[in-house]
Order: sequence, then C-alpha cells, then structure tokens
Amino acid sequence: MRRPFSTILETLLCMSPGNYFKALRLLTFLSLASAFCSPVARAAESTNSCSRVFAFEYALGGRLQIDPRAEDLAEPIETYAQIITRIDADIAPLLAPTETKIKIDTAHIFSAFDDRDFSVSVGVRPPDFQPFSKKANRNILIHEYGHAIFEKNLVANSPEYREMRKYGLALEKELLANDMLLKKLQKQNDKSAEWSTAVAENNRLKKLAEDFINLKRVRYAYHEVFADTLVWITTKNPKAIREGLENLATPAQENSVASLQMRDMDAGLDPLNMQTWKEKMEFVVFVNSDLYFPFLPVRWELWSLSKDKIHDEAYRKSLPDKVFRVLLKNFTEDLGQSPKAFDARGRIEGVIRLNDKIIHDLRQTI
Ligand SMILES: [Zn+2]
Repeated sequence: MRRPFSTILETLLCMSPGNYFKALRLLTFLSLASAFCSPVARAAESTNSCSRVFAFEYALGGRLQIDPRAEDLAEPIETYAQIITRIDADIAPLLAPTETKIKIDTAHIFSAFDDRDFSVSVGVRPPDFQPFSKKANRNILIHEYGHAIFEKNLVANSPEYREMRKYGLALEKELLANDMLLKKLQKQNDKSAEWSTAVAENNRLKKLAEDFINLKRVRYAYHEVFADTLVWITTKNPKAIREGLENLATPAQENSVASLQMRDMDAGLDPLNMQTWKEKMEFVVFVNSDLYFPFLPVRWELWSLSKDKIHDEAYRKSLPDKVFRVLLKNFTEDLGQSPKAFDARGRIEGVIRLNDKIIHDLRQTI
C-alpha cells in the first residue's frame, strides 16, 4: 500500500516538463505525509449533528462524511465523529485542525493527508483484509488525523516551517507557469530563443525542486512519528498500526524491512529489530525514501518511556503536547540546516544523531 516514493523521484528526473510537474506535485504534496495510511474520519463539535444529504452521510457540521460506496464497510458515522471529538478535546493545548475535512471512502482510495488544505481521506478496508478491519480503520483514521494536527500546530508555532511551505507553493507555481509556456512553445513548434530560455529555466527549477524534495523528505518523518504516536496515545495499543495495515493473507517476514512489525511501538523489545534498522537504514531511508524507518528508534523509546503511565488519564492527555514540543524543537533545528544535509547516501550518522537528540529530549520531557 505504500506509495513508491523513490520510483516517483527517479521517474520525475527524466520526464517531460508536463509530467515532471505532475510528479513533483504528487511527490511533494500527496505522498509526503500519508504513505501507509488508510481510513480517516474527521469531526468537530457534537456527534448529534449527523444527517443525510443526498447519498452522503455527514457529521460534525459537515467536516466528516462517508461516501455512499463505503457505507457497507464503514462503521456508523457517529463512531468516527466520537473519535475525532474525543481527540480534539484530548490534545489541548495543541490546536485542533477544525478546517480539516474527513472523507471515509472506498478501499480503492489511498488513505492520505493533504497538507495543502489539511484534508484527510480514508479508504475503508474490506472485511476479508483482516479480522478486525473496522477497528483497524479507526486506527488509520487516528493516524491520518494526527497528520492534520501536526501540520496545523507546526504552521502555528514554526515561522521557519511557514517559510518552507510558502517556498514550496511558490516553486510549484513557477513550475506550473514554466510548464505551460513550454507546452505552448512546443505546440507552436517554436524553437526560438524563448524556447531555449524556457528550457534553461525548467532545468533550474527542476534542480530547486530536487533540493526541496530532499529538504522535505526526512523532515516528513517527524510527521509520521507524531501520527503513529497519536494512535498509541489514543488506543494504548502498541501494535495498532500493524493491525490496521497488515495483509494477513501475505504477512511480511518478521524483523525484515518489509515487516510492519518494525513499526510496532514496542518492536524495540526485540534486539533483532534494532539490528535490522542499523543494517538496512541507509538503503531504506536514502534509496527507498521510506518515511517511517528513519525514526523507528524514537517510536520504540517513546513507548518504553510511556507504557507504564499511559493508563493514567492525566498523563495520557499530556502526551500529545509534550511529544509535539519535542518534535517541534528538533524539526525546527533541522530546518536550519542545508537541504543537502539529508540528500546524499551514506548519511546514516545524521539519522542516528537525530534519533539520539529526540530520544534525549523525550527522556527529559515525558
Ligand atoms: Zn502517515
């Protein structure tokens, strides 16, 4: 189910300008924060506002909707609404992303968070995917909604990140304009000086786009840590992500990089997982561009630090803000570095250093 991030990147570098733009857009805005995800819902105030309009079901003042094609697999809309309402209340003082629209959709829809408008879509898993698919869909909903919370609070708290967002949108606009010009000239078979200038500009923008993608890539791993952490905090189940995503018909081998077991919050209990992480990390992170793998040790430590206290409600509710502050601090410090810092292969030391820093801060904070 994971979007082939590196394939897109590689394809994009040898594409025509038009397709290049499409791939860039896909890469920078769609694959970043979603990858593995599946169901989502969204909600706001009360769960009493559910109603039917045409064939869609709506709740939470229209923030949450179920596509009629997903109704057979989805739970009652009130269930999703209650989850979101509870999360919105529990994450304070973090801001709830009240602008987020959540759509529960069919299994054919790739579950994702779109950081342009904070919207979330969830593809509901079919019952034969695994025995607890409906419960699993809830977990994926929580994960995707976690992205919306993280993005909302990053924008609110990090001027550096706001700049990065602004830059990305401006670059996308420039690429689009350049792409349209090239298409127009191509149609006119115009190979004049204007064509040469447009091609040179395209090459310049492509280079900037490459740097930008690299800049965002590892940084979006922070997003995934927060989203997975919200699932842990909400469900108190360290294996909730795997239970939502693993295809029981063809489970991956344990301790392998393909195994979702590595993403269990308590997977650090098995020393073989840390060994696999160290041995495979360079390939998985820098060649496969995986967004979950970079901070697996952070997840494992976070679980270890919180597992004995998670059933204390006051402590549990304090975690989203505490974890966010730690991630925000490290994320912001990383943004101060050159985009080159994470783009080359052989940057294992950099990723280990980031894990150590975040783990150090978590130990001080949670
Ligand atoms: Zn995600």
